Amino acid sequence: MNKEKKSIKRREFLKGSLVATGALAIFGTGAFVLDKESAANVPRENHLRPPGAIDEDNFLYGCIKCGLCVQICPVQAIKLSGAKEGLAFGTPYIEPRQQPCDFSCDALQCIETCPTAVLNFVPFKEAGLKAVEEAAAQPGVDMSQVNPFEIQKVAMKQEVRMGKASVNKSTCLAHREQGFKGISRGSEFKGIYRSPDDANASASPLNEREFDREICNLCITECPIGEKAIYQKLSRSGKLVPHVLDGCTGCGVCQMVCPTENASIVVEPY
Ligand code: SF4
Ligand code: SF4
Ligand code: SF4
Repeated sequence: MNKEKKSIKRREFLKGSLVATGALAIFGTGAFVLDKESAANVPRENHLRPPGAIDEDNFLYGCIKCGLCVQICPVQAIKLSGAKEGLAFGTPYIEPRQQPCDFSCDALQCIETCPTAVLNFVPFKEAGLKAVEEAAAQPGVDMSQVNPFEIQKVAMKQEVRMGKASVNKSTCLAHREQGFKGISRGSEFKGIYRSPDDANASASPLNEREFDREICNLCITECPIGEKAIYQKLSRSGKLVPHVLDGCTGCGVCQMVCPTENASIVVEPY
């Protein structure tokens, strides 16, 4: 091959490369826009994200599907979604009726371990530090006698907003003025949680607990957040019923423990 032919071939190669690069750039931009549009169409109702998740569109793009949050969760509350979820394939979610986040890791470890910050630790760190400052400012408090980590961990879990629980009045036993006695989800149920009765113990199986309530209130007594999230309210018709407040974290423990066939209290993701 002479020098001139070589030069023509080189020019054609460079021209071809430029066209290909340009086409890829245009296609890539188009694909991004298309994917972004289809992201908005992914059904969200099952996507209760782990604590600290940023807004859904950015979460879908930022999560690298590494599964570290799945691995670190001590109660294995976090799962990775399957192929039918489209763009959400491989992203983490929680199905609280089967296994909620019960905060038994104490320090929101899924958030701390997330390498991309789509589980964003910043608001939790700030809430923890603010709570310690407020405790120190209380008159008569000797901070040398207080464990700041205890204050921080309570403030951090109270800051979580995965969703908010909602009661189905037509099936809730309390709304029907009924009690509950027995193992709430049956002896075969595999879910675990740390009961507020023994807040320092690790999680144990729900099926090891027998309840006996004149009026059902399991969602209230087993809530890891307590009265900032849910309390027993006297309704206008004189019934003692569960009432959910804005302090609900959406952890889903209530949804797991509820003894009705289909949960009468369900977390709606934010
Ligand atoms: S740790 Fe973060 S990046 Fe990894 S799967 Fe979980 S949310 Fe996604
Ligand atoms: S546990 Fe279920 S049935 Fe019982 S009071 Fe709560 S929502 Fe109602
Ligand atoms: S009411 Fe309590 S147990 Fe239920 S989702 Fe809210 S914080 Fe969790």
